Amino acid sequence: MNIDKIAISIGIDRYSSPEFDCKFDPDSVWKIQALAEKTYKAIEEFVGQPEFWPKFIDAMNYEEIAEGELKGGGHGLYLHESQSIKINPHMNYLNVYLNFIHENIHHVDRYRPEELVDELTDIIFEKVTGKSLKDL
Ligand SMILES: [Zn+2]
Repeated sequence: MNIDKIAISIGIDRYSSPEFDCKFDPDSVWKIQALAEKTYKAIEEFVGQPEFWPKFIDAMNYEEIAEGELKGGGHGLYLHESQSIKINPHMNYLNVYLNFIHENIHHVDRYRPEELVDELTDIIFEKVTGKSLKDL
């Protein structure tokens, strides 16, 4: 049983804000935590309800980032085995948040193709923030 399932089983609110590894910029973390509940609800509306939402966002290490960059990524990882999320902490707020959405979509629907996850990430971002990515 992983820590997120334990959190659910002891009754922590499913929409509570996730904790982030200390390598993330505190300002970005604060902004994302403030949007977490709205983000989870928007993903549930568009994709479906997961058993739980991952409540700890880990930082990708240099090796994982380098390996991802070889494949044109390196921004974030969804680990199916542990049902957990890792994000590159060396990005600005916008990219950390977009990856937070992206990896949580993988968490709910592991079979959704990458390009459809990207498309939906933009839609969810715009729904939650009320801003268009094209204007940023
Ligand atoms: Zn992906």
